[in-house]
Amino acid sequence: MNESTLDPALIPEGRTVIGDQPFSFHCHPDVSCYKACCRRLELYLYPYDVLRLKNRLGLPSSRFMHQHTRLGRGSHPYFPAVLLNMAENDEQTCPFLSDQGCTVYSDRPSACRTYPLERAVEKTGTGSDLSAYYFMTHHAYCRGHFEDRQYTLRQWERDQVLYEYNRMNDLWAEVDAFFATNPWQGEGVAGPLQQLAFMVCYNLDEFRAYVARYDLLRRSRLDKERRRRVERDDAELLKFGFSWLLSELGSGSLR
Ligand code: SF4
Ligand code: SF4
Repeated sequence: MNESTLDPALIPEGRTVIGDQPFSFHCHPDVSCYKACCRRLELYLYPYDVLRLKNRLGLPSSRFMHQHTRLGRGSHPYFPAVLLNMAENDEQTCPFLSDQGCTVYSDRPSACRTYPLERAVEKTGTGSDLSAYYFMTHHAYCRGHFEDRQYTLRQWERDQVLYEYNRMNDLWAEVDAFFATNPWQGEGVAGPLQQLAFMVCYNLDEFRAYVARYDLLRRSRLDKERRRRVERDDAELLKFGFSWLLSELGSGSLR
């Protein structure tokens, strides 16, 4: 999608839409602002971000959530957002920042990976088709915009290894859009159904135990090969969880 097809009302303040034209940016340890962007952050974590970070740190998901996150207001009132806690020091640095840079670099969250761009998706048509577009942010402290290197969007996605994150975040966007319809069957927010949904999205280790306890994979009639993948792989389990939630809460059949 490019600026000519995007409703200008959807463009957040202070951002410009990035289309097919290359943009200038380069972040490296010699920029004068190195690590300036890793402090005092409202860093939102999506379910796949939590999966990657808890595995990177070797923590059970409940411990990661308890130790490193807090709940905040999401994009709608029917499901909370999850934010990373900053360290309790004067600069409120990210807990994963060291003198050398990011200590979780290959598993850093989507927002860090995409920066200085931001990615948004829009549902198109009646199916699950999404259009994605990127905005450029313009923070005065970030000197990377004045470097010579240029990227196209495709080069940026490749350089930042964004494909798997984008794929998982698009699935999450579909689930979150469904949560925005208040599907909690009259229980209200923070009722048992919403808590179950929160566990599936953010407490994957507990969901794995839940799946085994209720024999969900067999009851969901997954074929053997997919069952094996879900049993072994957290990302496959999360994908199954998204699909299971949509089917349990009444937005379609299990995929
Ligand atoms: S996760 Fe890494 S890149 Fe992101 S804010 Fe923390 S230190 Fe910076
Ligand atoms: S502020 Fe910009 S250029 Fe500086 S370290 Fe952060 S992303 Fe890189």
